[in-house]
Amino acid sequence: MSKYLIVGQGLAGTLLAFSLLEKGEQVLIADDYNHASASQVAAGMWNPVTFKRLAASWLAKEMLEEMNVTFRKLEEKLQASFFHSLPVARIFNSIQDANFWDEKSDHPEVGRFLSARSNKSVQENFDSPFGNSEVNECGWLNVPLFREVSKNYFIQHGNFIEDAVNESEVEFLESSVVWKGRAFDKLILCNGIGVNQWKGLESLDLIPNHGQVLDLKIENLEIDAVVNFGQFLLPFGNEKFRLGATYNWNEVPDEPTEEAKELLLSELTQRMDKTVVVESHKTGFRPTTRDRRPIIGFAKENERLGVFGGLGSKGVLLAPYFSKLFSAVLTEGAPIPKEVSTARF
Ligand SMILES: Cc1cc2nc3c(=O)[nH]c(=O)nc-3n(C[C@H](O)[C@H](O)[C@H](O)COP(=O)(O)OP(=O)(O)OC[C@H]3O[C@@H](n4cnc5c(N)ncnc54)[C@H](O)[C@@H]3O)c2cc1C
Repeated sequence: MSKYLIVGQGLAGTLLAFSLLEKGEQVLIADDYNHASASQVAAGMWNPVTFKRLAASWLAKEMLEEMNVTFRKLEEKLQASFFHSLPVARIFNSIQDANFWDEKSDHPEVGRFLSARSNKSVQENFDSPFGNSEVNECGWLNVPLFREVSKNYFIQHGNFIEDAVNESEVEFLESSVVWKGRAFDKLILCNGIGVNQWKGLESLDLIPNHGQVLDLKIENLEIDAVVNFGQFLLPFGNEKFRLGATYNWNEVPDEPTEEAKELLLSELTQRMDKTVVVESHKTGFRPTTRDRRPIIGFAKENERLGVFGGLGSKGVLLAPYFSKLFSAVLTEGAPIPKEVSTARF
């Protein structure tokens, strides 16, 4: 009998499963891939700096440490290369922007991430009269590849079933949770924007945020950084790029819109004079919370129903640290910090 049934194999479910397996726990993950999946469209970038205020993101140092260790270890375990360091080059919009950057580069917290180095390939290819500067300790995770190789690993080790878990088929008993004739100790929801649809979790402040990205081919553009000019342009190599992303609280259902496509392309072509071919247009919902903190914990009056989610737009940076924390909660009874606990809602 598996101890934990994890619902969803996005970033949250995958990393929680690895963390529990590492502790010797028995885990079964179920996903049918027919539900909304942010992980499947995420650009997968991590960046410890918030550009609006030029501040370090929440717990940046701790998150980076755990993220680096976790994904390097998983690359070795899964024999695949999906974790790539790459600086972000921030294009300045004014001389004041550039001066503010200089000022902040002495700041005890954010300063370590703000390089004085300007990226040459970005300067040469983008209209940037006020220059650019690089952010250190950034990069991108190839999330679809990471999911795929993880899924293969889970299948090989008997930890995966391709199926949807519907609440109506789950029975919470005194001593176990039963789903389709299998008994578990706990069921853990890692189902992205679906977490607050289950009984006892309705009060979670989980708000789907619609995002759109474009995959592009741009001939004769070679850059060795993610370019940030309000939007981002992430180079994959071989003249392939991802451009994004929009943020929209009102867009339902999940469909690509012409408006978003035009907005993204016009902001790019104002900066760069190259021929752009759109190869695909992807959309998804970020599982966000108003206080921008993840969600960890249990349903009201049902300790057998757990939840790990609310990763917002920073799943790559947050998921390794918080999956480890949640696995310690589950296996060692470690306390859940109030700021991320389900108890705060
Ligand atoms: C356009 C866009 C760009 C983004 N860019 C970035 C970025 O650059 N960097 C970054 O860190 N983050 C980014 N994000 C955010 C990131 O994608 C999320 O934080 C993260 O992927 C959330 O992971 P999750 O596992 O919680 O949810 P999801 O990835 O949504 O996974 C949920 C999983 O649960 C499954 N599921 C749902 N219901 C059921 C059910 N009943 N039974 C079985 N399975 C079920 C789904 O099929 C899915 O696989 C972006 C998001 C979007 C939309």
